[in-house]
Amino acid sequence: MGLLTTLLMIASLIAPPPMVPVISRIPTEERVVFLTIDDGAVRDPRALDLLREHHAEATLFLTGKWVTGHEDYFRDLVAGGSAIANHTRRHTTLVDLDEAGQREEICGNADDFQRIFGTRPTLLRAPGGHYNDTTRRVAAQCGQRALVGWSASLNDGRVDYQGGRHELRPGDIVLMHFRKTFAEDLRAFLDAAKAAGLTPAALGDHLDR
Ligand SMILES: [Zn+2]
Repeated sequence: MGLLTTLLMIASLIAPPPMVPVISRIPTEERVVFLTIDDGAVRDPRALDLLREHHAEATLFLTGKWVTGHEDYFRDLVAGGSAIANHTRRHTTLVDLDEAGQREEICGNADDFQRIFGTRPTLLRAPGGHYNDTTRRVAAQCGQRALVGWSASLNDGRVDYQGGRHELRPGDIVLMHFRKTFAEDLRAFLDAAKAAGLTPAALGDHLDR
């Protein structure tokens, strides 16, 4: 075994390869809550107006295959105050892929979005929420800074809370999707935020603190 190989082996034992942190809410005292909207297969034409009207800054975890051909729709949402995040190229379950496959899905999509939107997404959400250590390592290698889960979700115009809770807490990350029920789901989010005395805020800004 060569000296360099030996040194690299020792180095990897001392300092394991970096992995992105996994977060499902942000610990904060601030009265804020975070809206995240996934996928992009269904594109409600009212989304831009609805988000703007309610000053709901959202983080959009988009899948490349659903952005293709609809770039302007999502560019308009970004111009309206939303941020682009990474939800892989093809929405494949990452844990079913080897390292090279995961790299293509995660890093390939980040590259594509950098080209399409002019900024590189740095937040990743795994399709279905399924990830492993390879996911976290590969994500770190191509400039992602967190794997983002959620602590409540929006379905059919209602909020589904995790852990037996009945209201939103400061720092909750709320999962919504681009679905036919966009308006109803957003309404449910805004009502729940208001009832809990919380203001929608930009997730990316709060991760920097
Ligand atoms: Zn998804």
